[in-house]
Amino acid sequence: MGPAPLTLFDLEPPSTPVPPNPLLAVRQVYAEPAALDSPRGRQVLARFPDAEVVEVPSHWQIPELHGNEGNVQRWVRVKTETLVLGVKKSLSARPNGRSAHFIAPSTANGCAMACAYCYVPRQKGYANPITVFTNIEQITGYLRRHVARQGVLTEPDQVDRDSWVYDIGENSDCSVDALVSDNVADLVATFRDLPTAKASFATKFVNRQLLDLDPRGRTRIRFSVMPDADARVLDVRTSRVADRIAAVDDFVAAGYEVHLNLSPVVLREGWEADWAGLLDHLDDVLSPAARAQAAAEVILLTHNRALHEVNLGWHPKAEELLWRPEVQQPKRSQNGQENVRYRNEVKRAGVARLRELVAAHAPWLRIRYAF
Ligand code: SF4
Repeated sequence: MGPAPLTLFDLEPPSTPVPPNPLLAVRQVYAEPAALDSPRGRQVLARFPDAEVVEVPSHWQIPELHGNEGNVQRWVRVKTETLVLGVKKSLSARPNGRSAHFIAPSTANGCAMACAYCYVPRQKGYANPITVFTNIEQITGYLRRHVARQGVLTEPDQVDRDSWVYDIGENSDCSVDALVSDNVADLVATFRDLPTAKASFATKFVNRQLLDLDPRGRTRIRFSVMPDADARVLDVRTSRVADRIAAVDDFVAAGYEVHLNLSPVVLREGWEADWAGLLDHLDDVLSPAARAQAAAEVILLTHNRALHEVNLGWHPKAEELLWRPEVQQPKRSQNGQENVRYRNEVKRAGVARLRELVAAHAPWLRIRYAF
């Protein structure tokens, strides 16, 4: 018997070290042995050649990453200096129906950014640095089979007119993940060849390396936007909102479908004027091509009691915007978390007002859903 044939993933182009950037200066990689031993794991290590490698039995069992809830200096340092390599064990695509038809199995979780309202940092200790799953070939194979089983989307819906949409970034920001490994490039390449399906992810980071991936309309990027006055307090370590908007035309020209997430909408004094200004800005700067394909999700803020307590320790100014018990009500989430959201009547009025603002200031922007 001859040697096993090489696969695409054995033939990874050699990785060069990641150029210095403020988000990632990796000094330590916690890795499961199987992840370390994989082509994708080796690619990540080649991008961060100076990092010390620490073997761990499971990417979920890293005591050093827990217990840092209130210590933001430590928190941000861990995000910048630490990566985790693991193998995604159970692969499944969960039905969704709002943002996408399905949530794809994650190829990463955690984030190098630190938005004050984000649910992602609540897993794996509050620092929750990026974990890269190295069994990308299994994940893309699973997705191809899952897409094939769906057949053709026969009824257009708010998610898409004719394709099954898979969210590939539920637990991470794919634009930053693409700095760390080629997982996102492989997902974009996978969906490029799937005429009945699309990948989709929301992002707050402009990574122009993604412009070279040739998605041919099969990947939807949703740039999240909010008034700059909110983002300057809440979106910690992200690209500035104006830079995200300035990137839209380039991503459309590069073959992405580009949507906008108007989220989270934070209700506060002056919110309507600031959202009107943001919508005017979109109306001023986006090209006709970008407007013609644009659509938006509108999501009013959901917050969380435990996260509120943590944030008070490092970023109380954010909590002045996020924690407003006089207009919020508790909402127990499916996993038992004590979430809070705007009271029903406040939320209803907020959604209706935002729809009016879009109709008045950016009437070309189709709202896919608002809640
Ligand atoms: S960019 Fe997204 S995943 Fe990262 S902290 Fe912000 S909201 Fe969370």
